[in-house]
Amino acid sequence: MSRIVIRNGEIITSMDRLRGDVYCEDGVIRAIGAKLEVPAGTEVIDASGQLVFPGGLDPHVHMELPFMGTVSADDFESGTAAGICGGVTCIIDFCIPAAKQSLLEALKLWDEKSKKAVADYSYHMAITWFSEQVEKEMGTVKERGIPSFKHFMAYKGALMLDDDGLYRSFCRIKELGGIATIHAENGDVVWNLQQKLIRAGKNGPEYHAVSRPPEVEGEATNRAIRIAEVVGMPVYIVHMSCKAALDAVIAARLRGQRGVYAESLINHLLLDDSVYQKPNFEAAAYVMSPPFRPKGNPDALWDGVKAGMIQTTGTDHCPFNMSQKAMGKDNFTLIPNGCAAIEDRMSLLWHHGVGMGRISEQQFVSLFTTNACRIFGLYPRKGTIAIGSDADIVVFDPTKTRVFSAKTHHQKVDRSIFEGFEAKGAPSHVIANGKLVYKDGDLRATRGAGRFIPRAGIQLI
Ligand SMILES: [Zn+2]
Repeated sequence: MSRIVIRNGEIITSMDRLRGDVYCEDGVIRAIGAKLEVPAGTEVIDASGQLVFPGGLDPHVHMELPFMGTVSADDFESGTAAGICGGVTCIIDFCIPAAKQSLLEALKLWDEKSKKAVADYSYHMAITWFSEQVEKEMGTVKERGIPSFKHFMAYKGALMLDDDGLYRSFCRIKELGGIATIHAENGDVVWNLQQKLIRAGKNGPEYHAVSRPPEVEGEATNRAIRIAEVVGMPVYIVHMSCKAALDAVIAARLRGQRGVYAESLINHLLLDDSVYQKPNFEAAAYVMSPPFRPKGNPDALWDGVKAGMIQTTGTDHCPFNMSQKAMGKDNFTLIPNGCAAIEDRMSLLWHHGVGMGRISEQQFVSLFTTNACRIFGLYPRKGTIAIGSDADIVVFDPTKTRVFSAKTHHQKVDRSIFEGFEAKGAPSHVIANGKLVYKDGDLRATRGAGRFIPRAGIQLI
């Protein structure tokens, strides 16, 4: 039996702040209060002067993903371990079937890969094609505890689903009581812009952002939200990166459309398109989609966060080393898209959010874990500190400074998009499933300790 008590910290949830102890037994929070009496032999963590948060959920990651002719560099073991170092105790990965592959077959592949996870996980199921078979299998997927389905409006000729597919998938999701998640970029327009640039000899990584301007994201975001409105079901825009898309979300919410949600990445909240000016192919390290945006967009996203128009944050953690990025040395459209950030989000969101006076401590918790746990059906098992919830807890030292660098991070990738950044506030202890898995830089993760967490349904927040 594992027993841990966290003494005398400031316990902060999406609603409250109170000083006290949290007692965990066998992976579950059993008691919360002042000066709790606990059984002899209980491991004690002194959290005096520190903050106690529910463990983070990263609702958007890709571990060991076969993509663009290679595989993302972090697998379920190294990726979830890096997450733990950054206060993330649960992830939702994306199970992505290949063209014409059965959803259930893809699920088997993901179940195999995820066995080595050190922290708990779930998946969104991607709908990359549509047929009667897919329609049927979506029901089985939902019964398995996966009520969220991902749609790519970009990556023409690979993962992209057309409007016919979107509409039919949305109808099925409505029947199942699930939610659609959307990568919103107009894939046809992007494809044409890419061809034009390449033909003109504009083949360097700096043209990546030029080939997918904010307008294509704004258009696709609006289209997905409007199709969801016609069908009458909830929709969640992943990695929303720009004002053009935010405007579509705000318009929908203000006209009274229910269940319209937006996730922004810490990546897009903090970086702009000046990263693409880096010389010597270094810009390739920042090639992800949507790309980093012109100045002004990160501020607009922060305004959306402050106003509650953006409900969640994630990272789209999908790292590729420079040797992999080199596949697109002579053609930016062949650079594997993706960056690492699972380890970085907590400290950066705290520092740039709460530390800079943009959001409250409670909003921080909502954006780091609670809201996504609610929307995707993990709450209250995860996303809060409450009796009966999983014992996933971060003890956070608000005075500790973290410096970001590829030299020191645990992500298995040779670049950090936040290289040289500093943030005040970092985890001192991380408890996952009732066990102390991180203490002051000492990672004690166990391969295979993570569990698949079935999700019953979704919650409209
Ligand atoms: Zn993604």
